[in-house]
Amino acid sequence: MVTTSDHRLADAKAKPIKDVADLLHINGLVRAGREWVGPCPGVGCGGRDRFSINTSKNLFNCRICGAKGDQVHLVMFVRGLDFLPALDWLCGPKQELSAAELSERERRDRENRERQQREQQKYRENARRAAWKIWDEAVQPEATPVRGYLTLRGIRSDILTRMPKCLRYHPACPYMVSDDGQQWREVHRGPAMLAAIQGPDGKFSGVHRTWLDLSKPKGKAEITDPKTGKPQKAKKTLGSKKGGAIRLQPLGSVPQLIMAEGIETTLSAMIGGTHAEAAFWCGVDLGNMAGQRMLGKGRKFAGIPDLEDAEAFVPPEWVRELIFIQDGDSEPRLTRAKLLSGCRRAMAKRAGLKARIVPVPEGLDLNDVLMGAADGR
Ligand SMILES: [Zn+2]
Repeated sequence: MVTTSDHRLADAKAKPIKDVADLLHINGLVRAGREWVGPCPGVGCGGRDRFSINTSKNLFNCRICGAKGDQVHLVMFVRGLDFLPALDWLCGPKQELSAAELSERERRDRENRERQQREQQKYRENARRAAWKIWDEAVQPEATPVRGYLTLRGIRSDILTRMPKCLRYHPACPYMVSDDGQQWREVHRGPAMLAAIQGPDGKFSGVHRTWLDLSKPKGKAEITDPKTGKPQKAKKTLGSKKGGAIRLQPLGSVPQLIMAEGIETTLSAMIGGTHAEAAFWCGVDLGNMAGQRMLGKGRKFAGIPDLEDAEAFVPPEWVRELIFIQDGDSEPRLTRAKLLSGCRRAMAKRAGLKARIVPVPEGLDLNDVLMGAADGR
């Protein structure tokens, strides 16, 4: 839309129409007082003296084809353009700033972007170091409350005989919260199960913590922020989980990867026995498994991955078959859409890979479901 705020209208009006005619290479005009007269530049018009431009009024006119108007109309007429493109042709793109001001603005924008990137990188590296410090303080989980916790969750020691290397026990792990992302305060300190998150390159990228209280039915600590009175989640990650996973059984003897959102579900599937030869990785959270999705009208549940997302989880190259386990969830349609997005991304990024979702319906044994999945159900 052209509005009165478009300064180019005034700029166009300020141009002598003879200059505009010259710019348009309108030839054969002869001066006649305040007018220039000649053949009409209109397609198929021509003639000898039917066309005229008036330098005092800055208007043109053809008495045969009827074309007439001001400087912009002349551009429209000769170049066959609409109004705005004609204005662009005559005055250049709309600019609120001078060229010098524009280049100064671009320089500042670039500097800001670079500074933000450096700050983000520094923040991520600091978080990774803090995560490593916590991980480094922790001990092997065998014969610690981690065993008791897993047993409470149905993962018995006679089945999970050897603890995964990516799990550890921290006897006094601080639980920190922040009101503003700057200042942190400790609201709890206690025993926790730690899990190492590894990035796509296999390097340690963060730590997942589950605070424990074995006196509770599910073995998880109940933590309340004393300042706000708000209950806190018993699980937290520190560092980066993007594109990463908790590699409970890092490698299988077959090129199959089974992944669930939670550590407990992944371990339950792992000890189920039917897919013992597969690799079992925990995806840490649904957002990481799904990656960015294409959203917009009617797409909320469509599960279309945004393949531009370079940080989402993609299975390693050795995986030929990917199975996502869908936990019971309050919003199963959304969960499914997210997992679908992850499956499609994996198939798009890894040629020949097959991916599917195995839902675990309420009250059904995960192992039975996986058996069904093996039969292609
Ligand atoms: Zn004409």
